[in-house]
Amino acid sequence: MAGGMPSHARAVIVGGGIVGCSVAYHLTKLGWRDVVLLERRELSCGTTWHAAGLVGQLRSSHNLTRLARYGAVLYERLEAETGQATGFRRSGSISVARTAERLIELKRGASMARCFGVEVEVISPGEAGRLWPLMRTDDLAGAVWIPGDGRTNPIDTTLALARGARDGGATIVEDVTVTGIRRVGGAATGVRTDRGDIACEVVVNCAGMWAREVGRLAGVNVPLHAAEHFYIVTEPLAGVRRDLPVLRDTDGYIYVREEVGGLLMGGFEPAAKPWGMHGIPADFKFSLLPEDWEHFRLLLEQACVRIPALETAPVRRHVNGPESFTPDNRYMLGEAPELRNFFVAAGFNSVGIASAAGAGRALAEWIAAGEPGMDLWDVDIRRFMPFQGNANYLRERTTEVVGLLYAMHWPFRQPETARGVRRSVLHDRLAAGGAVFGVAAGWERPNWFATAGVEPRYTYTYGRPSWFACAAAEHRAVREAVGLFDQSSLAKLRLQGPDATAVLQRLCANDVDVAAGRIVYTQMLNRRGGIECDLTVTRLADDAYLVVTITAAATHDADWIRRGIADARVTLSDVTSAFTVLGVMGPRARDLLSRLTGAELSNAAFPFGTAREIELGYATVRAARITYVGELGWELYVPAEFAMGVYEAVVAAGGDLGLRHAGYHAMDSLRLERGYRSWGHDIGGEDTPLEAGLGFAVAFKKDGFVGRDALLRQRERPLARRLVMFTLDDPEPLLLGDEPIWRDGVLVGRITSGACGHTLGRSVGMGYVTHADGVDAAFLRTGRWELEIATERVPATAQLEPPYDPTSARVRG
Ligand SMILES: Cc1cc2nc3c(=O)[nH]c(=O)nc-3n(C[C@H](O)[C@H](O)[C@H](O)COP(=O)(O)OP(=O)(O)OC[C@H]3O[C@@H](n4cnc5c(N)ncnc54)[C@H](O)[C@@H]3O)c2cc1C
Repeated sequence: MAGGMPSHARAVIVGGGIVGCSVAYHLTKLGWRDVVLLERRELSCGTTWHAAGLVGQLRSSHNLTRLARYGAVLYERLEAETGQATGFRRSGSISVARTAERLIELKRGASMARCFGVEVEVISPGEAGRLWPLMRTDDLAGAVWIPGDGRTNPIDTTLALARGARDGGATIVEDVTVTGIRRVGGAATGVRTDRGDIACEVVVNCAGMWAREVGRLAGVNVPLHAAEHFYIVTEPLAGVRRDLPVLRDTDGYIYVREEVGGLLMGGFEPAAKPWGMHGIPADFKFSLLPEDWEHFRLLLEQACVRIPALETAPVRRHVNGPESFTPDNRYMLGEAPELRNFFVAAGFNSVGIASAAGAGRALAEWIAAGEPGMDLWDVDIRRFMPFQGNANYLRERTTEVVGLLYAMHWPFRQPETARGVRRSVLHDRLAAGGAVFGVAAGWERPNWFATAGVEPRYTYTYGRPSWFACAAAEHRAVREAVGLFDQSSLAKLRLQGPDATAVLQRLCANDVDVAAGRIVYTQMLNRRGGIECDLTVTRLADDAYLVVTITAAATHDADWIRRGIADARVTLSDVTSAFTVLGVMGPRARDLLSRLTGAELSNAAFPFGTAREIELGYATVRAARITYVGELGWELYVPAEFAMGVYEAVVAAGGDLGLRHAGYHAMDSLRLERGYRSWGHDIGGEDTPLEAGLGFAVAFKKDGFVGRDALLRQRERPLARRLVMFTLDDPEPLLLGDEPIWRDGVLVGRITSGACGHTLGRSVGMGYVTHADGVDAAFLRTGRWELEIATERVPATAQLEPPYDPTSARVRG
């Protein structure tokens, strides 16, 4: 050790903000003593020191809420444990709604929070006023009160985590800058610094807004961008008590809390100012950016609407500090897909103080166990695509994402900035036909097609949206005639080489050693039997397979497979861009395609679950008899340059058969009725195929696939947790996902995804139900079921089998 700098460590953490300190703290809690944290200047000097210190528990998704909950728990006990004060106080928080729709959103959040034991109460404007006397309440629709929310002092909390880490054996070194990452054979093996190298097993990038640059040192994509972020602090004000709850008026973009007898007011303006485009100054420590009252004016005006006393309150301090934001407003955790043993925890989107506890613990567990201890897909770094590191994309998206934290979290809300990044060959034709697009992994995907008289753009609501009737008509066309989907964004991976079968047999739960031309639906499991990937594998030849997975999982699934390849003789190529995919789905699909090909399409000649090359128009395409909508149909994999010709031929041939373009909203409604699972929603790393009702896709007779032992153990007992289908008895309410499930007045689960099923004429959803003695048909039949939508319980019917075509007669028709 030279000058306090060790030459070896088990883990090196880059960055001494609250996140790096939390990772160090939690690694030592897991018994890792040999941990070194390196900070280029002083602990907390980057973004952490000037944070407002709000510690909220409720987040936009259930997993983020699960992670955020731990913040208040840890910060509350840290002082007793370490002797370092944190300044944490459970002041409680009030979120007010100016509109009826915002109140629905708050109530939906309250319902979701109940699933995780967060105490939340919906209160009237009058009650909110009593808790916060300086607030104007006559224009409010309602509020929610979360008594357990808190606030903390960011610097002190960081120092407490650092002290806890030191007590656990970690070494913290300040004034040392990491300048390079050592790597051997695709794995990180150490760091280079301006004070010498450190060899290590694991590098953790917690470098805040510098994390993109630190990622670059390692060849790792860390898509984040800094933005200016503001608050003011007033002089002491009459009527401001020390125990005032935190107040959020998200319709006015603002939050307010007590600060030394005055008020601290900050917010999330809809059009933000990206910062640091030309790099971050080398001497940046405990630094602020210039005041910008013009930019802050919107927040100040809105704050004065809510708290009239602010109009005359003298301002003591104007804080403008940079914070890093990611393209989807969620932070990044996990091992980088580009480099083994290189982990990232960065991009905290202005909630890093509240999130550092949960994120630090989750990442430490991931590092120690070699896999995440819970489903972290919402924040998994592998949700990002390589293009999202593009500086222009990031800068433009950052102008929008800052405001999204407080903007309405509308169902189906689409970003408005940095659009049109990835477009299918058919994009302009579809747009001309009324397509309204949504984004997935940068792809513009038709979500619905506007019919005459409907404006082709989104207007958002918690009620029935403008596109409801359009999607319903598309849905019906697929059930009754034939629909045409552009599914080009599906991720397509080609696996080839002498060991391809061996690799896939080990990774897949189903048997993929089938004849060429067969398509196998399968999951890839972790050692606990949880579903890491949900995909189809088509055997192309003895030594070649086409693996198709959902758009959002492209990076994740490729990473999972690459890890599984290790040093086997196989290559994995992403061929997504090579093929346009047209889904021709519905009972008339065979009639339609028969007009364009001489190939025999009968059940006998072209059964379900097979794929082959056929001539179609002037092109040769790979037709795959498979469906995600529960009808007869084919996915056509068309080499991109032939796609327009094939598209024109299909459209021309389909007119008199009732062909209709259909989008992803219709697809969601169709797949839910048929009970098809969606990875990332209904299934993920914490759910096994047996719990998810996918046991039919597990080849137990096949030895040695990853996760088999866990499934065999689980098979020995009745399943205490199962994915159950629900339909609402009342056709009116809409399921959107995350609704609590009640049986005989007892909370037993949560809806994972839901939508209106247009054939059923009512909302349909699925969700896991837990019951220690086992969840079976009798348990479902004998209970009184209710789903909680925005705090109201509505009666529902529960069953294991899908409500539409449970025998697959239509798919095989
Ligand atoms: C005005 C404002 C108000 C906020 N209010 C809240 C709030 O109320 N609640 C909340 O939860 N969050 C809030 N935040 C967000 C919160 O401050 C951040 O999310 C959080 O501090 C991020 O922590 P971090 O550890 O990721 O980053 P940082 O604190 O920036 O830490 C990163 C560290 O890495 C170091 N580093 C960088 N490069 C290197 C290198 N090469 N070698 C060594 N060290 C390096 C830096 O010096 C820095 O200290 C607010 C942010 C701002 C700007």
